[in-house]
Formats: sequence, structure tokens, C-alpha cells
Amino acid sequence: MWVSDECFLLTGPTNIGLVRTGEGQAVLIDSGGDDSSGRRIRKALEAEGLTLQAIYNTHSHADHIGGNAFLQTRLGCRIYAPDRETAFVRQPSLEIHMLYGSPAPDEFNHKIFVARESQAEPLSSASLPEGMQVIPLPGHSMDMVGFRTREDIVFLADCLVSHETLSKYAISYLWDLDRYKETLQQVCGMQARLFVPAHAVPCTDIRPLAMENLRHVADTEEKILELCREPATWETLLRGIFLSDGLHMTAAQHVLVGSTLKGYLTSLVSRGAVRYFFEDARMLWERI
Ligand SMILES: [Zn+2]
Repeated sequence: MWVSDECFLLTGPTNIGLVRTGEGQAVLIDSGGDDSSGRRIRKALEAEGLTLQAIYNTHSHADHIGGNAFLQTRLGCRIYAPDRETAFVRQPSLEIHMLYGSPAPDEFNHKIFVARESQAEPLSSASLPEGMQVIPLPGHSMDMVGFRTREDIVFLADCLVSHETLSKYAISYLWDLDRYKETLQQVCGMQARLFVPAHAVPCTDIRPLAMENLRHVADTEEKILELCREPATWETLLRGIFLSDGLHMTAAQHVLVGSTLKGYLTSLVSRGAVRYFFEDARMLWERI
């Protein structure tokens, strides 16, 4: 659906933006989860009589780059991704290697981690269409960015999640807690004609949802600190989070929640709230 003269949104599991940049030309902000998403985008382009110039990936997670390969092969478009995310878009198997820490058993090579390879180039201001700006939004992933279009529509990628997701889960995926919080604080003060989070309903006032995400992060920190009242291994802390949330342990959840938990612990250690020590061939975490 068109939400302005130049911006067409394809809403779904990942909200995707098609931005008209000139007569009959458009660029894409993210490409969805797989080939079927690529097909849906191609249909929308055809229906609107638009030629795709380029895809701008906000970050390298598979649900944002999964349509890249289909569209690049069929339409020959260029693909841009921010800084270190570029390597992951070019080699998506790096994602599970990073999360797991070595070549992982097959069960971990799930489609939520591994997209098809595509030929991405590093994003620079020179590679942007006229009037479009990059907004650094690190934290959820290493170098995630958002985009502000020349019509003042802001794409926020995964820097926050919906109220429904917050109600359901105590912990949502992030890479670097400190950067994640700084980004959310920045988002709290943003103004735009329309905000488009990748996994929440587009809105004109993002502050309430950004504040709710910040409060949720603070609650999660408290929960982890409570679990660290007695010295505990990382696996014990992970179990505590799964039990309190009623989460079902799967290979995917284990690496996602496990990696996020490590992100929280690193931040808590750097702030002097938690310490770790080695005892009896175990690494133990304890509240200070
Ligand atoms: Zn993501």
C-alpha cells in the first residue's frame, strides 16, 4: 500500500519499504525472508510499473536479506549493507558460525539464520538515492542502520519490538546491550512523518513504544541479576530465563537467547553489577 507519494509498504512478518526515487524507478529497504518474499516484491514492482535500482539492507539477519538473491538474480539490482553487516549478507552462513561458535550441527542451520548469498557492497552516503539519509541504529546487530526518506518516513529496522512481543517474551534478541539502549534513547527523541519498525505496526509517534522497550530491557536486567544472586553457570541462567518465560528450548532459541544473555552479562560486568570467576572447571556469574 502507498503511504505517501513515494513510499509503498509491503507489510508482513518483516515490513519492507519500496521508495520511488525517480520516474519509474525505486529502491527497496530490506527484502524479507526468502524467495517467496522476493517474488512478492517483484509482483509489486511490476504492478506499480517500477524498476528496482537497489536494495538497502538495514542489517544482515535472514528475515531482512532473504529476498536479495532472488531479486538480484532476476533484476540485476545492486545491494548495499552497512559496514560489518556486508560480510554476513555476502556469506550468510557466518551468522550461525558466529552465534554457535564453530560449525554447528545441521539442526542449527535453520532458515531463520541462513539466507541465500547475494553480492552486497558496503553502504556509503554516496550510494544513497538523493535525499535519503542513513541513521546508525547499532545494538540489535553489529552495525544495523535505519533510513530516513526525503519524505521524512523513517525505517527503524529491529531497534524495537512490538508491544505483543514484549508481553510474550522476557528477552528479545540483541547483540550489544549498551549500544541497544543508546539507540532506543535516540529513537525516543525522534520525530518523523511516519515510523516503520520492521516487526511492529507503523506509527507517527514512536516514543511510547521505544520507552516500553527500554523499560522491558531494564526489567530483563533485573531478572538476570536476580538469577545471579547465587553463583551460576551461563547454562543455569539460560534455564532460569526459559523457565520463567515458559519458553520451549529448541536449537534456534538456545543460540538466540543464549547469545542475548551473553550480551546482557558483558554489559553488567562492565558496569560492575556482576562478576565472573572460574571454579571447579566452571565459569560462574555472580551479582556483586
Ligand atoms: Zn534482526
